[in-house]
Amino acid sequence: MPIPFDNSYANLPARFYAVQTPTPVREPKLIRVNRTLAKQLRIDADWLESSEGLNVLAGNTVAEGAAPIAQAYAGHQFGNFVPQLGDGRAVLLGEVVAENGKRFDVQLKGAGPTAWSRRGDGRSALGPVLREYIVSEAMHALGVPTTRALAAVTTGEQVRREEMQAGGVFTRIASSHIRVGTFQYFAAQEDNDALRTLADYTIQRHYPTAADAENPYLALIEAVVAAQADLIPQWLGLGFIHGVMNTDNCAVSGETIDYGPCAFMDGFHPQCVFSSIDRNARYAWGNQPSIAQWNLTRFAETLLPLINADKDAAIKVAEAALGTFPDRFQAGYLAAFRAKLGLAKANDESKAFIKSTLEVFAKNEVDFTLGFRHLTRIGSGEDAAEFVSLFTDEAAAQTWLADWRRVAAPESQLTAMLAANPIRIPRNHRVEQAIQAGYQNDFVPFHRLVDALAHPFAEAAKFADLEQAPTTAERVTETFCGT
Ligand code: AMP
Ligand code: MG
Repeated sequence: MPIPFDNSYANLPARFYAVQTPTPVREPKLIRVNRTLAKQLRIDADWLESSEGLNVLAGNTVAEGAAPIAQAYAGHQFGNFVPQLGDGRAVLLGEVVAENGKRFDVQLKGAGPTAWSRRGDGRSALGPVLREYIVSEAMHALGVPTTRALAAVTTGEQVRREEMQAGGVFTRIASSHIRVGTFQYFAAQEDNDALRTLADYTIQRHYPTAADAENPYLALIEAVVAAQADLIPQWLGLGFIHGVMNTDNCAVSGETIDYGPCAFMDGFHPQCVFSSIDRNARYAWGNQPSIAQWNLTRFAETLLPLINADKDAAIKVAEAALGTFPDRFQAGYLAAFRAKLGLAKANDESKAFIKSTLEVFAKNEVDFTLGFRHLTRIGSGEDAAEFVSLFTDEAAAQTWLADWRRVAAPESQLTAMLAANPIRIPRNHRVEQAIQAGYQNDFVPFHRLVDALAHPFAEAAKFADLEQAPTTAERVTETFCGT
């Protein structure tokens, strides 16, 4: 088998999914195959790039060993519960076990209508395919747990959005696609048998040690809380805004999933939002920790019947598990920003300095990535002129620098600073440029961006333009789900 499928989710009860073959497209063309990832997944990259492989990546043929399904799930969207969402434009082909022994889903996104499509067409425009490829691979290279990009293809078909656009299919790799919303789907139906099956499956697949705990389902909550509490500080430390942290977009594996309207900030502001549909700034940069905790609370609620038949007793222990989030998040947040700033000590002075730094950065609209990047340079002995030039108020920059030199130890912390302050991130305007070129059938900017972001901490003069903040004319302030 060119893709060594070893499927398990498709063996779960029939109500977990709808059997669904992808719908063929007119004229598939390959944009890119992630050859390194293919190898790790024991998939033959040459075959993926062949016409046979292309047909599988486009959904025109079903690969040997695949058991294509559309998964059932529910979810809170912007706080409102929707009991039935499901894979409306995605088909899970199956799973593979990677070289490292880990199990991964292989999913086609944009593969045509499914039982859960409602009024949607089951398709994806090319733009979101390119965005997810660029950003998810960049996140991986930045060291953040994330789903991955195996391939992107064009379909030769148009999809109707605000206007007609070229269509694409994205091949997503994930530790699994089990979401908080998957648990909510069965909880809403009070289907405790399914909940138990799903919880047992999740424990076995993601958190096997929880099986040995006194109460495995409580241990599952604890593990998922820990994974999210470790993930969100990494987003914050990179200026990443997910944009649509609905419970259906919250993976229990702790991987970042669903790169719809996500973006990296240019100028820092804690209330920064890009998504055109996030009218109340629910998913702003600085709200992400509290939203994660809100999502985890919805997750814990679904497991109460499995934890203890006595509901009050179940709530009590679940609340204790949820209560571990703030401290664990704070520890991760402190570690992330201490590294960024070169602060040697995990003490109250460092905490206060991080807070005041972000206030000063916000007030001066300091470019988040460049600001920290230039600090690393200052730590390496360069002068501060470029850093100061990032501030709207030069005097404020000088005052802040004097404080920083007093509390930070950039020389001794330089290694940590270099590893925490990337040189290149997927700047929103560059992602947008790559997408616009893609719609003109020019994938050179896309490939260049993907290549540049594969090593975000390495100096590369040939990619210097990608480090820069957008000019006023280039700035992109709004992103769209584009579904
Ligand atoms: P998302 O915003 O990607 O998290 O999607 C939310 C829900 O809408 C999921 O159930 C998707 O499967 C569904 N959906 C999004 N786009 C489409 C589409 N083009 N066709 C059908 N369903 C869709
Ligand atoms: Mg989603």
